[in-house]
This record gives sequence, C-alpha cells and structure tokens, in this order.
Amino acid sequence: MQIVCLDLEGVLVPEIWIEFANKTGIDELRRTTRDEPDYDRLMRYRLDILAKHRHGLADIQQVIGSLSPMPGARDFLDGLREHYQVVILSDTFYEFAKPLMRQLGWPTLFCHSLEADAEGVVVDYHLRMPDQKREAVRRFKELNFQVVAAGDSYNDTAMLGEAHGGILFRPPENVVREFPQYPVTRDYDALRVEIDRAFAAIGG
Ligand SMILES: [Mg+2]
Repeated sequence: MQIVCLDLEGVLVPEIWIEFANKTGIDELRRTTRDEPDYDRLMRYRLDILAKHRHGLADIQQVIGSLSPMPGARDFLDGLREHYQVVILSDTFYEFAKPLMRQLGWPTLFCHSLEADAEGVVVDYHLRMPDQKREAVRRFKELNFQVVAAGDSYNDTAMLGEAHGGILFRPPENVVREFPQYPVTRDYDALRVEIDRAFAAIGG
C-alpha cells in the first residue's frame, strides 16, 4: 500500500500569500516565515493587514480564484493518482486553497482553517495540530502505508525525514545545501521518476 504526500504551495500551486500581494498590490503581505520566523506573529500581522485593507474572506477567495495551479500540475497530479493514493499536506488554509483545489480536481487536502466573523472579516486562524505534515506521515506509516513525500522548503523537511522516501521539488539553494540527502527535482517528469524510484527502493 503506497501513499504519496505532497506539499501544495511551491509544488502544485504558487505561494498564495505572495500571489495575493501581487494581485492586490499590498506589499506588506510579502512577508514570509523567512522574514518572521515566529509563525503566530506572522499570521497576526497578516490578519491585521487584511482587516486594515478591509479584505474579507469573499474578496480574498475571489483574488485566489483568479490564480492558477502551476503549468502541468493537474496532469501530473492526475497521473500520480492513477497509480498511488495521494494526500496533499499543506500549511495553508482550506478557505484559501478551495478555488485552487477546484482546478486540481478536488484532491485530498490536510491543512488548517480560518475563522471569519459575521461580516466575513478574518478574525483568527486555527492550526489543526502542530507539526501536522510530519504527524500525518507518521500516522500513515502506522496504518501500514509506504510513504514517499515531496516538498519545496523548510516546512517540508520534517515530513521528508519521516517518510520512507523524501524528494525536493524546486527548492531554494539553501535547502539543497542543508539537506543533501534528498534528490532534487525541477520538473514534474523528474519528480514522477523519483517518486517511482523511491517506492521501488523501499521494496515490498
Ligand atoms: Mg511549499
């Protein structure tokens, strides 16, 4: 029994906050975990800015609805799902991801959620659990799945380490340097080859 765990942003879709900043021209929303490592502070900052610009959930979803998955992502994912169970493990929020999930054919997504008030203003966020990518892989292994995981960045490395096989997809150079144990892929054909190879290496 084989399951592929994929990161979402940077692997199948663009970075949602960055694209949202591009579309709306709100440069303050370009801040990422690289600028502010404290995730809670970063999210409070983002929610304050959304409120300041009076962007409610409906506006945000409309902007995100104008985004597209990365070219070739849908075909890659469909092909993968013919051969493996696939679960997307992401640190985004269901409310943000929904318009992109539609374009990807509604694959299974484990992520987090946002809380909006009656006017649709986002007032809070809820992490389903800490370190959920790694925890999900650990639980799939307990369910007797062989797990291969792929992601692009630091927030994926715990998941890659927990899986039987880990693969990087279009990672930044510092991640490549710090995690030389993982093969690096830069297009979907190469990623698929590495996924097949990783399962073959696990055997059984
Ligand atoms: Mg990513």
